[in-house]
Amino acid sequence: MNLNHPAAASYFGLSGYYITWMILMAGLSVFCFIIFKRFKLIRIGKPDPRYTDIGQRVSGLIKDGFLQRRQPRYRMAGILHIIIFWGFIVLGLHSTDLLISGLWPGYAFPFMGGLFGSVYNSVKDLFVLIVLAASMVAIYRRAVIKPHRYQDSHQFEAYLVLCLIIFLMITDMFYEGSRLILEHSTGGFLVAAQLSKITLSGASHDALESVNRFSYWLHILTFFFFLNLLPLSKHFHIITALPNVFFKKINRGALKPPRWGIKDIDQLDAVGIQTYRDFTWKQILDFFTCTECGRCTDNCPANAVDKPLSPKTISMKLRDFGYQNSPLFSNGNIENALILGEVIQDEELWACTTCGACEEECPVFIEYIDKIVDLRRWRVLMESKFPREIEQAYRKMEIYGDIWGMGAALRNDWAKGLNLKTVQADADIDVLYWVGCAGAFDSRSQQVSVSFVKLLQKAGVNFGILGKEENCCGDYARRTGNEYLFEILAKKNIETFHKYDIKKIVATCPHGYNTLKNEYSRLGGKFEVIHATEYIFQLLDENKLSLNKELNKAITYHDPCYLGRHNGIYEIPRKIISLIPGAKMVEPEKNKDKSFCCGAGGGHFWMESSGQRINELRTDQILEKKPEIITTACPYCLIMLEDGIASKEMKGQVLVKDIVEIVSEMI
Ligand code: SF4
Ligand code: SF4
Repeated sequence: MNLNHPAAASYFGLSGYYITWMILMAGLSVFCFIIFKRFKLIRIGKPDPRYTDIGQRVSGLIKDGFLQRRQPRYRMAGILHIIIFWGFIVLGLHSTDLLISGLWPGYAFPFMGGLFGSVYNSVKDLFVLIVLAASMVAIYRRAVIKPHRYQDSHQFEAYLVLCLIIFLMITDMFYEGSRLILEHSTGGFLVAAQLSKITLSGASHDALESVNRFSYWLHILTFFFFLNLLPLSKHFHIITALPNVFFKKINRGALKPPRWGIKDIDQLDAVGIQTYRDFTWKQILDFFTCTECGRCTDNCPANAVDKPLSPKTISMKLRDFGYQNSPLFSNGNIENALILGEVIQDEELWACTTCGACEEECPVFIEYIDKIVDLRRWRVLMESKFPREIEQAYRKMEIYGDIWGMGAALRNDWAKGLNLKTVQADADIDVLYWVGCAGAFDSRSQQVSVSFVKLLQKAGVNFGILGKEENCCGDYARRTGNEYLFEILAKKNIETFHKYDIKKIVATCPHGYNTLKNEYSRLGGKFEVIHATEYIFQLLDENKLSLNKELNKAITYHDPCYLGRHNGIYEIPRKIISLIPGAKMVEPEKNKDKSFCCGAGGGHFWMESSGQRINELRTDQILEKKPEIITTACPYCLIMLEDGIASKEMKGQVLVKDIVEIVSEMI
């Protein structure tokens, strides 16, 4: 008897062969049917062009998909997940080999013989044990340690899948162990098969054949049961995670347009998401891909202060709702199923600060901000249903062109006495300073604008400002869902930039910087945009500025979301601080891409908040490291953190400054 090939045909002869074929056909048919139904759901979605930047996508797939780069952000869970993921890849090949050799008795993958076969068998054997151990630890963590972030997840499914994985490993062990004894071979197998060999030693030949036969069948049956369970459960991510990583958003700073392929918002009958069919196909793929790991919610600042927002729950609700309204054996009415007010509530929508912490943490690159803003768009533009404070802000922007409601006549007041050039007077400049509404109208932020101007003047930069022709960049309007107002403001600004032939813009505000850099190009804006920290670092590097004075204080840096997570600028502000003589940098525990929002983004600077406030929680986190100076690089973060310090009655004890001000003082 040749036991290199499966028990199915060997023991059952022709009937075993037919049974294997029947299992395969049944298993695959059901699987294809379920996948077809899921695919139909994705096809309901609106277009979303994700086929560009193929090189970047392939590299992301390797790093974030296969190498699971984000998993170790949660060390223990990450390591367990990496082991199980690679176990699936290695062992999947073996399960397929077993199946195929049952379908074609005597056939084996050609590369399974020789040196590769021995190495593979040994590696696979080791993986069997490691995956077995990892799955048991995962069960222990869920059942005993009970991480908070797993709360509300589908626990039964998680246990079931872990048990199935364990069962697959055990049946593999016994299949190989019995085979080795029956063949009087070591077969290059290491630990797992040898362990089962020890367990089976002394068993009769008939008993060994039975063990071999049943472990084979149980393995194959479990394999197909598992395969068909995937698209019916949260474990669909085992199939969809790699495509989801491949199709991830490339430019995170830019919100998606209301409809891909439509340039002018006036061409649209409806804007935003109200029903399921308003999602894009990628947004629906996101729902299928959520692993329910809870990392997003664990890092969500709104959730941390008990606001009714949990990104994980949003994905779970939308996936479960999709499955329920798209039943396997009937058509359902998912396309027209209402989302807004039914599945997702307004309190969830308006609690989001668009900080991006959820998206940064998600191991499978699920996107939230675009979905939340799309839902806001429907409320704002189709129904005029939004918080009262937002209405006032919209009115000010419409009438005055700025959210402070001061108007163009007062826009230049902060610059009195600075001998500043405006482009109206002289458009022959190397760089335009984009002041922003906060920098022009908020008294605290005006000090930052003045400091920046003095730095530029000291460095001999030929720069100017738009002055009265500068309008709000539109960040607030866009992130609160008023795409229409955003486009009016953005187009006006773009026209002005082009009128004065502006090629390079520097901004102190990360919101203006992000909007001009990432969102104006779709509307025809063509210019280079840099942030003030980048520009200052460049001037220091070129010795046009030098930091001479000593600080001798413990200083910390708070990463603004729109500079850090949305644009990847983490190191430059830290490098600037490291150049200040005597500055002792202390990092808050949540820093860089793990930084915690100040609470101002997504329109929240102008919204009322009850209960614990995000800026106060962030201030607590920062104060843990006992800094004497808190620096940041955003006017909104500056105001929010100053407010946080005031709420702790620590004004004067801990200073809050923009990094521009610090540099200006150290020159
Ligand atoms: S963007 Fe920030 S506030 Fe909004 S859901 Fe994600 S983590 Fe929460
Ligand atoms: S969205 Fe991502 S981070 Fe959040 S629960 Fe799902 S997989 Fe985890």
